[in-house]
Amino acid sequence: MKVLVINCGSSSLKYQLIDSDTEESLAVGLCERIGIDGRLNHTPKGQDKVVINQDMPDHKVAIKMVIDALTDKDHGVIASLDEIDAVGHRVVHGGDKFAESVVIDDEVIKGIEEVSPLAPLHNPANLIGIRACKSIMPDVPGVVVFDTAFHQTMEPVAYMYGLPYECYEKYKVRRYGFHGTSHSFVSKRAMDILGLDPDNSKIIVCHLGNGASVTAVKNGKSVDTSMGLTPLEGLVMGTRSGDIDPAIIEYLAKNMNKSLEEVMNIINKESGVYGLSGVSSDFRDLEAAANEGNERAQLAQEVFAYRVLKYIGAYTAALDGVDAIVFTAGLGENNALMRGMICKNLGFLGINIDKEKNSIRGQEQVISTPDSKVSVVVVPTNEELAIAREAVALIK
Ligand code: AMP
Repeated sequence: MKVLVINCGSSSLKYQLIDSDTEESLAVGLCERIGIDGRLNHTPKGQDKVVINQDMPDHKVAIKMVIDALTDKDHGVIASLDEIDAVGHRVVHGGDKFAESVVIDDEVIKGIEEVSPLAPLHNPANLIGIRACKSIMPDVPGVVVFDTAFHQTMEPVAYMYGLPYECYEKYKVRRYGFHGTSHSFVSKRAMDILGLDPDNSKIIVCHLGNGASVTAVKNGKSVDTSMGLTPLEGLVMGTRSGDIDPAIIEYLAKNMNKSLEEVMNIINKESGVYGLSGVSSDFRDLEAAANEGNERAQLAQEVFAYRVLKYIGAYTAALDGVDAIVFTAGLGENNALMRGMICKNLGFLGINIDKEKNSIRGQEQVISTPDSKVSVVVVPTNEELAIAREAVALIK
C-alpha cells in the first residue's frame, strides 16, 4: 500500500509518500507560504530537490500541487492518484476523546473540533488539511494519528495538576503529553533492539529536538510524560522555557509592563536555550559558541542537560527502576556531547557509556557498555513511518 502522510500547519504542509510494503519513503516535500504566495519543495527518492514557485491561495491548491508533483512525468513517483491507498494525518491534540488513531468520518472531525480549544494554534490547521484532502481525494480513506493518544494510558496520579478539581471537570485542564507517535515508535524499537519483554519492561524515552519531552514507558504504555496541557511544560527547549514557577508570569507582566500575551510569547518563543544563551536555539550553534568561550552558551547546554537528568531521575522513581534509556529526535540522535552530559551523573544507576559508540550520529546504536546495568540506546525516530503503519493497520 502507498500512504500519503500529511502534517498540516496554518501556512505550511509537510508530506511524505510511503510504500508500506517496503517501508520506504518514495518522496518527501513541503508546501510553504500557503495563503501568502506559495512554494513547493519536492524531493523524490534518490533525486535532487525540485522547487516550484506557484501561487497557493489555500490548502486545497497546495494538496493539488502535491498530487501534481507526485504524479509528474519527470519528478513524480506514481502514475496517478489511484495509487494512493490512504492518507495519514498528524493531529496534535486529541484531548481525552481519542486514545487511539481513527479512520476519519464526520464524527471524528466533530471530535477534533471539540478539543481544538486545547490546541488553538494546531488543531484548526490540522483540520484544514483533513478537509482539503477529503475534497481533492474523496475516495481515498483518511486516518488521524494524534500526538497525545499514546499518553492516554497515564493514570490520574500522573495527569492531574494540583488545581481545583473543577479546572479538570469543567475546563479539561490536565496533563496530556505530546510527541506520542515518536515515544511509541522508539520505545517499541528499543525493546526489539535490546530484546526486552514488552510486558515486563521499564523504559525512559528522551525525545530531544527543538521541542523536547521525556516519557516513562512501562510495559509498552506511557505512564508519565514531561509535557502537559500544552507542549510548554517540562524540559528547557529550543525557545520554550519548560517548567517554571507559575508566579513568574505575573511577576514579569508587572515588572516588564507587558500583557499576558506578551509574556506568554516570551516564554514560548524567546526563552529556552535561545533565551539563556542569546546565541541560538540550535545546539550546533551553542556547541560552537561554547567552544569559543561563550559562557552563556555553555550554561544553556548545562541547564538543558540538567533538566533532562532530573526527569530521568524522577521517572526512574516513578517506574520503580529502569531497564533502558532511549535518545531520539534531532538532538538525541545527533549530539554526542549532550548525550554524554546527560549521562555523566547517571553512574548511580550503574550506567556506563562507551565513548566511541556514543560518537555516532543519526543511527541505531547501543551506546552503553556491555556491563552497564541500564542500557542506553540511540533510536532515530520516524513519525511519518509510524503514521503510515497506523493508517495501514486501520484501513486493512
Ligand atoms: P528536531 O526538532 O528534532 O529537528 O531537532 C532540532 C535540534 O537537533 C537542533 O537543536 C539541532 O542542533 C539538533 N541537530 C539536528 N541535526 C544535528 C546534527 N547533525 N548534529 C548535531 N545536532 C543536530
